[in-house]
Amino acid sequence: MLEEIVEPLLAWYRKGHRILPWRERRDAYEIWVSEIMLQQTRVEAVKPFFERFTTALPDISALAQCGEEELLKLWEGLGYYNRVRNMQKAAKQVMEEFGGRLPADYEKLKSLAGIGSYTAGAIASIAYEIPVPAVDGNVLRVISRLTEDDSDILKQSTKSRVERALLEIMPAGSAGDFNQALMELGAVICVPNGAPKCRECPLRQFCLARAHGTEMGLPVKKKAKERRVEERTVLVILDGEHLAVRKRPPKGLLAGMFEFPNFDGYLSEEEVLKLLKGYGLMPLQIRKLEDARHIFSHVEWRMRGYAVRIAALEERTEDELIFVDVDSAQQRYPMPAAFAAYARYMNLLLGQEKYEKR
Ligand code: SF4
Repeated sequence: MLEEIVEPLLAWYRKGHRILPWRERRDAYEIWVSEIMLQQTRVEAVKPFFERFTTALPDISALAQCGEEELLKLWEGLGYYNRVRNMQKAAKQVMEEFGGRLPADYEKLKSLAGIGSYTAGAIASIAYEIPVPAVDGNVLRVISRLTEDDSDILKQSTKSRVERALLEIMPAGSAGDFNQALMELGAVICVPNGAPKCRECPLRQFCLARAHGTEMGLPVKKKAKERRVEERTVLVILDGEHLAVRKRPPKGLLAGMFEFPNFDGYLSEEEVLKLLKGYGLMPLQIRKLEDARHIFSHVEWRMRGYAVRIAALEERTEDELIFVDVDSAQQRYPMPAAFAAYARYMNLLLGQEKYEKR
């Protein structure tokens, strides 16, 4: 049955589709960067990140050589910072093993850090016209509905089965367009939230879910494990015009990023003042800020914030803290969007806010 979708799907796609800057040039590096960004963010939100990233780092060699802080800064607001670290690892591998060019080989692409079957498939098919599938959540949704398959799409076995089925029908010479057409259909017609637009769908006559009215119950996704909730107290510590930040440890959540000092649990004003005095700082004034929360994949932070003005000290005993002006914090120090609510208090924009307010 899947064979029958190839021609109508390609015809629909070629008649008109969204223009995505990274797809037009069919450049392997740009496709790679965009696909990694798209794993965590919508197309529209990715555009400014993509432009900024590829302007600063226009090729694999520039990515391989970029300093850690600049790299994290360019990724700031996208989250999942290990993804960009892996990209740099892969870029170094490409420089050493493949002469600076992403290999035109599906298996070799998969051997690179952070590149799984979906990303390898997207690069191989779109940049090099290699007939391999690129199966992500959008494609799994479309295929589950077309074939009325109620397997759990979060299971690797389901994904592998769909990859094998699509491999059989990849059209020679149009692999890139075919994969993009499936992605596009999943993004604009067979949508993830709300009802799919079956009336506009070029595949409606083949679709079993539509025939049986089961499309809203598909695909099946088993609920992910519940997130752990952590309560934290975040401090915006000000010394005149300067703001205290500190660097996170090199491993673990938000590794190597800069943050406002923050502590386990909800602290009272008295506890905060005592803690800062313990660090050798002299608090002059404390004010409660709004509560905020941030959701990571496995943890949710529920944050209580305080702004604390301290007296400028000649010598600091607390060397974990770095005092920086707001401009440098904005330009040089990569800070996760988790702290956006408190950064705003200092007119400091993090992550996507930077683009939205322009
Ligand atoms: Fe999705 Fe409806 Fe098209 Fe079936 S007919 S693939 S459910 S949009």
